Amino acid sequence: MPERPLDHRLTDPPSLPAVIVVADDDRVSRDALATTLKNAGFKVVIAGDGQEAVELVGRGGVDLVMLDILMPRLGGIESCRIIKGMTNESFVPVMLVTVKTDTASRVEGLKIGADDYITKPFEEREMIARVEAMLRIKRLNDHLVSVRKKLERLSVYDELTGLYNYRHLHTRLQEEFKRAERYHGPLACVVVDVDNLRGHNERGGQALGDAILRGVADSLRRCVREVDVVARYGGEEFLVILPSTPIAGAMAVAERIFREIRGRVFGDTSANASTRATVSLGVATYPSQDINTKEALLRAADTAITNAKREGGNRIGVFQQRNTMYTPDTEPSSRYTDATARTSSDRPPASLRSKS
Ligand SMILES: [Mg+2]
Repeated sequence: MPERPLDHRLTDPPSLPAVIVVADDDRVSRDALATTLKNAGFKVVIAGDGQEAVELVGRGGVDLVMLDILMPRLGGIESCRIIKGMTNESFVPVMLVTVKTDTASRVEGLKIGADDYITKPFEEREMIARVEAMLRIKRLNDHLVSVRKKLERLSVYDELTGLYNYRHLHTRLQEEFKRAERYHGPLACVVVDVDNLRGHNERGGQALGDAILRGVADSLRRCVREVDVVARYGGEEFLVILPSTPIAGAMAVAERIFREIRGRVFGDTSANASTRATVSLGVATYPSQDINTKEALLRAADTAITNAKREGGNRIGVFQQRNTMYTPDTEPSSRYTDATARTSSDRPPASLRSKS
């Protein structure tokens, strides 16, 4: 077995042999290739023609394909074209197998996307070296693809909780706000903040804090509908966007979240490193007299939760319009504000309770 290339450690798992499809209608030359490759430590899958090779690649898990030029049903050039069209992201190297004199096929094959060729009869060491060179490029490509996918994921999702991140949250809120404006529909926002996360972190280490955040994220997912948006809003804060939801529905969701989290144990119970936790919530809804932008909606939810926190946490704050009627006098009337944030302890005010 040859020495593994140095960059083999870039891929995991590192010890699996590369899978090579050998397509040739001539049994003698096919077996010669297959035996040499097997002896070099590769896993070989045989195909009798190009059609079979294309089907094998379509099933996935193939690292390299070797195609004879002249085959019944589907020849090497045509199968190469099809395979290259199938695998635009995951790079599957294609090597053509030609007779020495057939320069025209080699040139055509390379032009339509074949990555390399060998001539038959082949020289064993050179053939293996070429295969390994191709696999080296494939591994680098696979590595880059996986890094790019991870970056794409991180640009939308929060790594710890798997929820949408702050950036994507604003994109989604913008969309939902525009939709609500256009259709004059209600839109609710619920900010959820873990009470005293720092205390949990100090007591149980960051592992416990992270377990609480992941657990809260999981609870939030359970408490909302498919159309709702749940995102990580800050260090210990989450935001739930509830499209087409008026105040009563938003309160019902806030209460469900509140109870779900109170009924939960976070962390590792077997290692005696678990805890219970509570959250504070801030609810705001659009349309509302003072809420005409998504920023104002977020500010209102923030005001509501700030008041809930100020009252000691473990409760729900609701941003409400107060229907204020008064006769103006000559004194400045700054104590009358159109909008105030009220808080409630475990239960919201009766007037706001869900009808369900
Ligand atoms: Mg042939």
